[in-house]
Amino acid sequence: MAAREIVCYEVEHMHNGTWVPLHQHRGFILNKASNNPGFPEGRHGELCLLDLISFWKLDLAQCYRVTCFISWSPCFSCAEKVAEFLQENPHVNLRIFAARIYDYQQGYKKGLRRLDRAGASISVMKYSEFRHCWDTFVDHRGHPFQPWEGLDEHSQDLSGRLQAVLQGN
Ligand SMILES: [Zn+2]
Repeated sequence: MAAREIVCYEVEHMHNGTWVPLHQHRGFILNKASNNPGFPEGRHGELCLLDLISFWKLDLAQCYRVTCFISWSPCFSCAEKVAEFLQENPHVNLRIFAARIYDYQQGYKKGLRRLDRAGASISVMKYSEFRHCWDTFVDHRGHPFQPWEGLDEHSQDLSGRLQAVLQGN
């Protein structure tokens, strides 16, 4: 499951009361861990992102907002780890936009609620996020974003499901 996974990320820091983008910390991670025989399930993209954030050595005295756009919402075990990371790194706020809900495993709801309680904001990608990703992370050579049929209905449906999960249903 989740053989191909992509995480696009961008970072802002708080400066004089507004979020200012840090362009040096913007990019994407393709999950290629499935090539590693030692980790048949792979190291999921969210955890690679946590590694990156630690690697950046962000200033503890500042406040950062990391936004990530991921193909699947975090699975239970990643959700746990991301929640722990947020508790240990109060200078980092996290916003997650997921294209799909990873509901192939028991406990995914628990994981998402845990993340929510740890202060992460979790949403479903909608037109504006898909378009933003296209504009920001894709080598689009001037081609405008083309929404696919049913995008709005589908993301509304997913969004409703996610809200229900976060509210404990
Ligand atoms: Zn995971």
